[in-house]
Amino acid sequence: MKLHEYQSKQIFARYGIPIPKGKVTAAASEAKEIAKELGGRVVIKAQVLVGGRGKAGGIKVAKDPDEAELFATQILSMEIKGLPVRKVLVDEAASIEQEIYLGITNDRAAKRPVIMASAAGGVEIEEVAKTDPDKIIKLHINPLLGIKDYQTRDIAAGIDLPREYWKQFGDILKALWQVYNDNDATLAEINPLVISKDKRLVALDGKMLIDDNALFRHSDLANVRDTDEDAPSEIEARKYGLTFIKLDGNIGCMVNGAGLAMASMDILKFFGGDPANFLDIGGGAGADKVAAAMRIILSDPNVKAILFNIFGGITRCDEVARGILTAIAEVQPKVPMVVRLVGTNAKEGRAMLANANMITAETLADAAQKAVAAAKGAQA
Ligand code: GDP
Ligand code: MN
Repeated sequence: MKLHEYQSKQIFARYGIPIPKGKVTAAASEAKEIAKELGGRVVIKAQVLVGGRGKAGGIKVAKDPDEAELFATQILSMEIKGLPVRKVLVDEAASIEQEIYLGITNDRAAKRPVIMASAAGGVEIEEVAKTDPDKIIKLHINPLLGIKDYQTRDIAAGIDLPREYWKQFGDILKALWQVYNDNDATLAEINPLVISKDKRLVALDGKMLIDDNALFRHSDLANVRDTDEDAPSEIEARKYGLTFIKLDGNIGCMVNGAGLAMASMDILKFFGGDPANFLDIGGGAGADKVAAAMRIILSDPNVKAILFNIFGGITRCDEVARGILTAIAEVQPKVPMVVRLVGTNAKEGRAMLANANMITAETLADAAQKAVAAAKGAQA
């Protein structure tokens, strides 16, 4: 899950990372009032969950409250990379001497978090990463030890940070690690971390990604989710606790277990098909969950066939069959459906589906081939 800049920076502030004074609002007139409170010169910043807002015209420095209102009006009517701007952050404007990049993310290959830092921060950091990767220094963190002083000094020296800022920088880096660790983030990034003209380090921008699988222990964060960028079907699936990812193909897949779901998608591809989604209904799914999953799959007009591949362990095949029947009664699907049930109560499940006008299959390969054929037939 992505957090907005203002949400990330509020978390930063709780951990002692200096951020500019500011407030978020959805109304341009209020932006003017906030600018007055902040003393005039402010920066108006689009709060959308994409990078490169600056380059897209979503970040503007206003010289006075009237201009703040004008810019807020403009930015609030924008779309950035397809996402509508619903809120702006009005921050005290900073005078910038240097822009630094500082981030912590997961390095899967190293199986550790990694700190990345660069003296060439700001809106061109992606370009720097491509053309001048040596300008970004990296240091892995042992999660049990956290960040030690010698490491913060190594990084400060590595980005040629003037000595007078090392203490501040060290405190910020350690705080950023706490932010990352405590919130189960997969990214905690400050870009730019600026050296201001009055000789302070300030986090002007903030970005955080939270591991969705850890959200159950961060109910405060789960509530702030902005669903603007998610496909409606994915939002609906989340409500029912289904793991669903929409894809571009035409064979809807309903599978229990992530591994089996992946295998089903692979084998569909192997036989020349193209999955319309990844869907794991999870272990022990009951009828209502199955029905919800089927509605979600069928809400995609690309879907020309559905493959049910259920391995009954904890999940009972008769429960799944009941769900399929409920869903069929409710949504009356017009597309062919291929079903493979094996494991717990498979016999009962198959008996329940015998009159449901479904194509049955024994093996996974058989099921996949039938689904591919069904999708092609439906298209013709
Ligand atoms: P991003 O483009 O989405 O990463 O948005 P940022 O918040 O990083 O802003 C982009 C750029 O706008 C920064 O790199 C700065 O150069 C500039 N900027 C942001 N806030 C201020 C500010 O308060 N004063 C000034 N002068 N420039 C700012
Ligand atoms: Mn930025």
